[in-house]
Amino acid sequence: MEKTQLAIIGAGPGGYVAAFKAADLGLDVTLIDLDPHPGGVCLYRGCIPSKALLHVAKLLNEAREAELWGITFGNPEIDLNRLNAFKEQVIAKMTGGLAQLAKTRKVNFVQGRARFTDSQSLKVELIKGGNQDIRFDNAIVATGSNPSTVPMFDIGSARVMDSTDALELSEIPDRLLVVGGGIIGVELGTVYAALGSKVSIVEMLPGLIPPADRDLVKPLHNRLEKQFERIIVDTTVSAVQSENNCLTISFNPKNENPFQDSYDKLLLSVGRTPNSTKLGLENTKVSLDGRGYIQVDHQRRTEEPSIFAIGDVIGSALAHTASHEGSVAVEVITGHRSAFEPNAIPNVVYSDPEIAWCGLTEEDAKTDGREVKITRFPWGASGRATTQDRNDGLTKLIVDKTNERVLGVGVVGVGAGELIAEGVLAVEMAAVAGDLHHTIHPHPTLSETLMESAEMVGGQSPHLAPNKK
Ligand code: FAD
Repeated sequence: MEKTQLAIIGAGPGGYVAAFKAADLGLDVTLIDLDPHPGGVCLYRGCIPSKALLHVAKLLNEAREAELWGITFGNPEIDLNRLNAFKEQVIAKMTGGLAQLAKTRKVNFVQGRARFTDSQSLKVELIKGGNQDIRFDNAIVATGSNPSTVPMFDIGSARVMDSTDALELSEIPDRLLVVGGGIIGVELGTVYAALGSKVSIVEMLPGLIPPADRDLVKPLHNRLEKQFERIIVDTTVSAVQSENNCLTISFNPKNENPFQDSYDKLLLSVGRTPNSTKLGLENTKVSLDGRGYIQVDHQRRTEEPSIFAIGDVIGSALAHTASHEGSVAVEVITGHRSAFEPNAIPNVVYSDPEIAWCGLTEEDAKTDGREVKITRFPWGASGRATTQDRNDGLTKLIVDKTNERVLGVGVVGVGAGELIAEGVLAVEMAAVAGDLHHTIHPHPTLSETLMESAEMVGGQSPHLAPNKK
């Protein structure tokens, strides 16, 4: 039986950040994962490979659009082997780097599948063979999530992909149907469309990216209408049939007649399911909710005092949230006063244009009946957006009506994912609109759109026609 002060199951952005921080604070740490290096879904099958491919998609789209500016390239030749090699190289560089950082910190990395035998011990089935028993003072469960499956799509056909299969990029199908208009579906659909697939996307709700405000989604929807073959909303898939050379899909629209269409491949992207089974949690007091998420308090402690849980397995769904929770759990374990209580968690859709938002949304404000003032600065008035021929953006601020405190920020446009960091800081620091407005922003940058939307709270942006009122 090995002994460790802190055992962490799962080495994704939640688990490895917790492990490194705990080691830096002097704890003896064992980090366990099924993959050969730390990184988790985010680095091996999620954030990082998808962004490497989206980078290539952006390049392809810009090269096509350059014709409008007098530059014409020939049709791109896509070598899938080399593209996949680039993606794998990115993954290897980052996961190898994390392995090195773990080693430098003397974090004991164990490759295997862990399960609790009681509230203080784990059994690890080692990938290299055999078992290892580990006794811990505290443990953090950071086992993440897997793509959700739906029985109707489980037809044993290689034509049905989940996000992990789609990132393998084994071929570029002629016609691809993406089922699910959330972040992952839109991002991966964008990749395949840029590579040459005719992409359709179907979403059962009335619009793509359901949690985002509609005015932020509109520019993306408009552009995707040109890049995708079809955007089908308010529609469910009612049947999937595997024919000889294709999949025949039956669609059931809310307000129209049912119809069928055929595709070469289908990407099922309808959410993620927490990895909370087969963990031996029944041997502890850790409890799950009805959807399988581990229940925790604001310090990320489960009902078993020695066991914490963070990240996708508790429903957090974003890499940066998992990392922040990992930090909080370690601070609590090492006796610091700490809790997970952010005012703003940034959400980013790495589409083209990107959508990013944090804090209160307009939709939230309506639902909660909050008295807010909302300003919108259209990128048609942004110098930098004009130089990039990308006026299809919008920056919006949601401020408290009485004291003008910034409660939420939303951006759609190229680079929105980078811009939102300023919004997160504004919300976290309890900035008022005047703080943003009176901060000098560099010209010409897209960041000026934040300053100008703040200026509109109490007055007028110099780059927009005066408000008649
Ligand atoms: P994970 O990263 O899921 O890691 C959990 C690890 O635990 C895995 O390595 C798993 O093998 C291991 N594990 C599970 N069970 C056991 C066990 N019993 N024993 C040992 N090890 C075990 N988020 C963003 O913030 N930005 C993005 O751009 C983004 N893009 C994404 C794109 C795609 C295609 C996908 C699928 C996800 C994306 N996400 C993104 C979500 C992000 O990947 C997750 O929110 C994040 O990885 C969750 O981190 P985690 O630490 O909770 O767990």
